Amino acid sequence: MKILVINAGSSSLKYQLIDMDGEVLLAKGLCERIGIDGKFTYKPQVEGKAKKDAVDVAMPSHGEAIQTVLEALADPVNGVVKSMDEIDAVGHRVVHGGRAFTESCLINAERKEAIKKCFPLAPLHNPANLLGIEACEKVMPGKPQVAVFDTAFHMTMPAAAYIYAIPYAYYEDDDVRRYGFHGTSHRYVSARCRELLGNPEHSKIISCHLGNGSSLAAVVDGKVVDTTMGLGPLAGVPMGTRCGDIDATILEYLMGQHGYDMKEMMNILNKKSGVLGISGVSSDFRDLEAAAKEGNERAQLALDKFHYEVKKDIGAYAAAMGGVDAIVFTAGVGENGAGNRAAICAGLEYLGVKICPDCNAQRADEHLISTDDSPVKVFVIATNEELMIARDTKEIVSK
Ligand code: AMP
Repeated sequence: MKILVINAGSSSLKYQLIDMDGEVLLAKGLCERIGIDGKFTYKPQVEGKAKKDAVDVAMPSHGEAIQTVLEALADPVNGVVKSMDEIDAVGHRVVHGGRAFTESCLINAERKEAIKKCFPLAPLHNPANLLGIEACEKVMPGKPQVAVFDTAFHMTMPAAAYIYAIPYAYYEDDDVRRYGFHGTSHRYVSARCRELLGNPEHSKIISCHLGNGSSLAAVVDGKVVDTTMGLGPLAGVPMGTRCGDIDATILEYLMGQHGYDMKEMMNILNKKSGVLGISGVSSDFRDLEAAAKEGNERAQLALDKFHYEVKKDIGAYAAAMGGVDAIVFTAGVGENGAGNRAAICAGLEYLGVKICPDCNAQRADEHLISTDDSPVKVFVIATNEELMIARDTKEIVSK
């Protein structure tokens, strides 16, 4: 079975074609500047096939973008399938499932309406995700389409973790609660972690997805009991450009001081804050490390703040779960930033975390970075959200 995985944004669309027999990646790529001038990237993973790198292709809408992807995949010379008929189903990343979606599902008219109802909860993402779905329905009529939600894995949280301490009516009438994001990534790495632990009956895992956007999840026996992001992805630890948790008083105060309207204020918190905001240098952790090495104190402060908040949340989740068996690091910083991992884990020895510096310095898709006698196992596990989406799609269409 061959599955096309689509992650549609407002002006971009990432894709992967995966052969589920052996879970082999056949091709991946990206459509950018949809609705503007259109740039198309195609990276076949089969020997002897030529790639395309940001070539000009007119893509006035997501429909043309999908059409371009399908033509490249089935191209007689550089394609990886003979025709579009070889593609059995499409799996779509959908960011917000609201309270309606607790798991992945086959898309139909009613479920598209339910995805639309979540637009106010994720105004930047869900409309684009639906555009991707509708474009595929148009270009590939009759092919099963599956939605995989970023929020779904977190829907097992107990009420005390997801409720906000504001009038209860906002939960009942307006769906205001903690949802959490990166659920597909947390699900993939925490499941892999359980396998690496030898599939114990009980497990307490803290999954740290640390990238440009970052979140942590506490996972007991495969089910999320808490996560750091909230109603939206602005909450939790500081990120590349997002502020993470802040005192809501700051909004009223700064809006009063500077005359910002809500849109300007939210733009500052989403785009100009986080480690970029503190350092004034960059949102990229490699730039921050380089600047800190050269003595830039604010770059060091931004790193210190990030490490401190991640460490604090690890402690909080150990408390919430009554202990921890394993900690997993994933995503750009989690997978590659050995110095970041060491700084986060420093001082967690009381919790049973003993890092092996040599192991931590090594690079691999999956490896143990704690010492053999460390009571808490610490792993680096490369995330693979696309594979998770493809697996869900296969399972759903096979039923
Ligand atoms: P992601 O959003 O998962 O793609 O992660 C992007 C982040 O990973 C960026 O801030 C990068 O600076 C960071 N990153 C990538 N490689 C490294 C590295 N070797 N050390 C530290 N951070 C890294």
